[in-house]
Amino acid sequence: MKFDLYRLVRENVRELKPYSSARDEYTSDGSKMVFIDANESPYSNGINRYPDPQQRQLKTLLAKRFSLSPANILLGNGSDEVLDLIFRAFCEPHRDNIITMPPTYGMYKVLAGINAIENREILLAESFELDVDKILESINSNTKVIFLCSPNNPTGNSFSVTHIEYLLNNFQGLIVVDEAYIDFTTQSSWLNKLGRFPNLIVTRTFSKAYGMAGLRLGVCYASEDIIAILNRIKPPYNVNELTQQKALQMLQNTALVEEQITEILVERDRIVGQLAEIYYIKKIYPTDANFILVKVDDADKRYQEILELGVVVRNRSTQPLCYNTLRFTIGTPEENKTLLKVLNSL
Ligand SMILES: *Cc1c(COP(=O)(O)O)cnc(C)c1O
Repeated sequence: MKFDLYRLVRENVRELKPYSSARDEYTSDGSKMVFIDANESPYSNGINRYPDPQQRQLKTLLAKRFSLSPANILLGNGSDEVLDLIFRAFCEPHRDNIITMPPTYGMYKVLAGINAIENREILLAESFELDVDKILESINSNTKVIFLCSPNNPTGNSFSVTHIEYLLNNFQGLIVVDEAYIDFTTQSSWLNKLGRFPNLIVTRTFSKAYGMAGLRLGVCYASEDIIAILNRIKPPYNVNELTQQKALQMLQNTALVEEQITEILVERDRIVGQLAEIYYIKKIYPTDANFILVKVDDADKRYQEILELGVVVRNRSTQPLCYNTLRFTIGTPEENKTLLKVLNSL
């Protein structure tokens, strides 16, 4: 069966034309013009003008980095906005459904709730791998999107490439691969396969490896057709001027960020080695991310003890398959030393 994107689009969105802002109607080509078309303040202070609604410079840099076209990219106010736009473009409230695989990132469920979309939850296997057959069995004609987080938060593992390809080939809806943690793994990105799968959407964020969680910048990579649909509904100025400037600055010199990633990976290995020596840590799950999930004897008690010694970790015990687990984000070498000292003192 051929993939039919337009069948998936919400009816009202099919009819929509995007809002045309002043900066859409006249795009500056850099020549010196008098801009009196947008009711802005004329007094220059760095942010008196509206930002580029299409974030052209940023998209050009990102496209070059991944050998794509700017038309394959949509930017949002964090990946949370990007994910919300996917719901709003493709999922009809009170009718459609999505599939998620707990334990995973909490926002898919939250966004499903906000958008009145049924969230069909298919637990991961005990190994934290996808249960592909169960996922395919739970699909019906109103299933619009499957959300896969790989590497997965909070478990840390990447899903099998064969499994994801099987889903891409056997599901006629959209598959979102959330690659928030892709910079911490040697697994290859699904960005390389966008050309092969018209139903694939890859999301990324500046919040983790790029060190810019405060900036709120998320990226969506997909076919030009999918991006064109998302562009119809995105708020015109959803990525502010300061965010665009900061992100551009960082992308023009990624040496520091790359050094930081390398350091985090070295630290991750070192911490894993030392956690293995701690008596109340029963299991250390393999990780492709900048965090480590461990199973302990009593997560509530250990969480409290660690907190009292000044370290805030994440207790993931309430998540399915994660009973008695704690999640540690890799910090600076100094912070990691503190974590290990605290853990060893219990
Ligand atoms: C942290 C995280 C994000 C980041 O979301 P932003 O809104 O871009 O900060 C996205 N997906 C997953 C799985 C995450 O863990």
